[in-house]
Amino acid sequence: MNVNNFFNIDNSLLELDKKALAECQAVFKEIEGTTEYNQLKVLKAFIDNGVSESYFTHSTGYGYDDRGREILEKVMADCMGAEDSLMRHNFVSGTHTLTVALFGVLRPKDKVLVLTGRPYDTITGVFGIDEKTDGSLRDFGVEYAQVELKPDGTPDIEEIKKALQSNSYKMAYIQRSRGYSTRPTLTIDDIEVLCKTVKEISPDTVIMVDNCYGEFVERKEPCEVGADLIAGSLIKNPGGGIASTGGYIAGKKDLIEKCSYRLTCAGVGKEVGATLGHSRELYLGLFSAPHVVGEALKTAVYASALFGALGYNVSPKVTDKRGDIIQCVTLNTPENLVAFCQGMQSGAPVDAFVVPEPWDMPGYTDPVIMAAGAFTAGASIELSADGPLRPPYAAWMQGGLNFHSAHAGVLLAAQKMMSQIKGE
Ligand SMILES: *Cc1c(COP(=O)(O)O)cnc(C)c1O
Repeated sequence: MNVNNFFNIDNSLLELDKKALAECQAVFKEIEGTTEYNQLKVLKAFIDNGVSESYFTHSTGYGYDDRGREILEKVMADCMGAEDSLMRHNFVSGTHTLTVALFGVLRPKDKVLVLTGRPYDTITGVFGIDEKTDGSLRDFGVEYAQVELKPDGTPDIEEIKKALQSNSYKMAYIQRSRGYSTRPTLTIDDIEVLCKTVKEISPDTVIMVDNCYGEFVERKEPCEVGADLIAGSLIKNPGGGIASTGGYIAGKKDLIEKCSYRLTCAGVGKEVGATLGHSRELYLGLFSAPHVVGEALKTAVYASALFGALGYNVSPKVTDKRGDIIQCVTLNTPENLVAFCQGMQSGAPVDAFVVPEPWDMPGYTDPVIMAAGAFTAGASIELSADGPLRPPYAAWMQGGLNFHSAHAGVLLAAQKMMSQIKGE
């Protein structure tokens, strides 16, 4: 085992590692097939759009006639199976990107229906779900409704139909990834069923998908199965670990135009925006993204196999169909969760010497512990894990720029937990 030339891993754990790797092989093959497909899709989009070295230059000021920016947005649209896109370094986060898309499309008195239960934490304040927060959609008079998930965590198609029949909704909103919930992630097939359900009853309703963590996990993207608009973060999948910040929105041309008026100004839209030298890394990141997503998926599958073999509850399981790069491992005790994160941190390329401790974070009821030794602050396409210190003491982990290094990171998380249990 190569890993033992550089790190101290117990023999018993190395045995489990070998078994876990063997268990993963068939799934890894499948992942490699999807990676190759998506890599070729991206390559073709670069070639078809005539990407040139001259597009990597710097624009300043208004950024008029920035060919690099314009073509990047065409390439991204092709990669997402969409008509057009906005892909910018100056989206500050995934939440900001989703916010621009929501405010771009929705108007006062419009109604929005969320089909997938309570959305991701940071989005709840954007809708103004719990209170009319200043600047939220609710503050601007947009009405909110949500259909709860069924007890098994899947969308409730019957209730969605009833809601759509009894009211007229401007937008139906779908969250693809599980976020920090225990519900299953939606696959592209699941999204297709939701889109068909909406369009059958209410063909004019705009279907928007929060595509965070989902890009390049499957061979199709939501716009190819009926979604009108998608958005995501560039420090997750589509930035390929190279984009240092940013986000994208992709979808129908008229909707992208509306979003562009919110991003810049009415009447000006996407014709402006200095790229300040970021274009090269956005192109390179998008080009690398299918491969990096494949590595992150392998890391998630391997962690599922290893911690499953160690007797912990894992979700998804090794052979479950995946719709995102997230792996949840239920560790049962606070000591395990802390050791897991500390062990993973010790295998990071950056800040490996830092020992993470649980901390009270704004907006969270329990202390949270995080492992993140990344080149890009907060990047979750790089190997990272976190979890709140409350039962069942689950760690949500994701990312891994390359499997060889992320494999070591996951093994070190397990090693630290085992040492801690043995009282070493
Ligand atoms: C990451 C994520 C977001 C956006 O989060 P940011 O931290 O603002 O980038 C939104 N929805 C889901 C499901 C996510 O996983």
